[in-house]
Amino acid sequence: MDTISERNVAIQPLSTEWYYNKVAALDMLRLDLVHPVVSGNKWYKLRLNLKHAVDGGFKTIVTFGGGYSNHLVATAYAAKMFGLRSVGIVRGSHDMLTPTLQQCTAEGMELIFVSHEDYKNKHEPAWATNLVSHFDELFIIPEGGDNEWGRQGAGLISRFISNNYTHILLSVGTGTTLAGLRNKLDVKQQIIGFVPMKQGGYIKDTIAKHIIPEKNDNWELHDAWHFGGFGKCNDELLRFMNDFYTVNTIPLDIVYTGKMMYGVQALISAGAFAPDSRLLTIHTGGLQGNASVKDQLVY
Ligand SMILES: *Cc1c(COP(=O)(O)O)cnc(C)c1O
Repeated sequence: MDTISERNVAIQPLSTEWYYNKVAALDMLRLDLVHPVVSGNKWYKLRLNLKHAVDGGFKTIVTFGGGYSNHLVATAYAAKMFGLRSVGIVRGSHDMLTPTLQQCTAEGMELIFVSHEDYKNKHEPAWATNLVSHFDELFIIPEGGDNEWGRQGAGLISRFISNNYTHILLSVGTGTTLAGLRNKLDVKQQIIGFVPMKQGGYIKDTIAKHIIPEKNDNWELHDAWHFGGFGKCNDELLRFMNDFYTVNTIPLDIVYTGKMMYGVQALISAGAFAPDSRLLTIHTGGLQGNASVKDQLVY
C-alpha cells in the first residue's frame, strides 16, 4: 500500500495566460498530490479522527455517504492504513455498485445500504450503532468528516498558506474545510467558497456556527456555478477542464474543483479582485470522481 505523503504538496503558479494583468498572483495549492484516493482535504479531515480512534482503542470506523462520496472511499482506504475495520452506511440501494462504492469494497469497507428516508437518521449515533451491531468498539465519523476533529485537521492545511495571499479560494461541500481554515488563517485573508450544489448558499449559516466568533468575518460563498446541481456536468464544464489541463497540466474533477475554477475564472474576468490581489486556489482532490467522464477528458 502506498503512503500518504504531505511532502508531495506543492504550490503551483497558474499560467499567466489565465489572468493576464487582472491580479498580481494566481497559484494553486496541490493537496490532490497527497494521495490519489485519500485525496486532498479528505486526508486532513480524517487524520485526527483516525488518530483518536486508534489512541482510544476503537476497532471499527463507521461513516456515511452517497454512492459517489469521496469521503467514503477515502475513509475506507485510510482506515485500512491505520489497521481499523470500516463500515460505510450508504444512502440508497445501489443494485449496481458505483465505481466509488466498488473501490470502497475493494479497500475492505463493509457497506450497509439504507433508504433515503432512513438515511436522515445519520446524526443519531444510536441508529448507526444498531445498524452495525455485529461489531463493537465503534468510532463514528459524520458524513463528510464534519466534526471538530475534521475541522481541526483541516486547519492544519493553513501551514501551507503564507500571509502574502490576500484571497484563499476553495470548493465547499459540508464546509468543514472552509470552517477549519477560517479558524486558523489570519482574518485579513479573505476566504471564498464555491458551492457545487444548486442554491447551496443556504449552508452558510451551518458553516458559521463552527467558526469561532473572532474569525467569523471576511468569508463568502458563491453558488452560481453548479452546472445543474451536485454531481451534474455539461460540455461547457468538460471543455473548460480540458482547456485548464492543456494550459496548466493540472487535472480538475467534475464535482468540485472544476466548478470552483470555472467560478474563479469568471470572477477574475469580471474584475472582482483589485489588481494587487494575490490569489491562492486550493485543489482539494477528488479526481476519482471523474471515472464516469474519463473518455471525455484529455487526461
Ligand atoms: C469533499 C470535497 C470537498 C468538500 O469539502 P468540505 O470540507 O465538505 O466542504 C471539496 N473538494 C473535493 C475535491 C472534495 O472531495
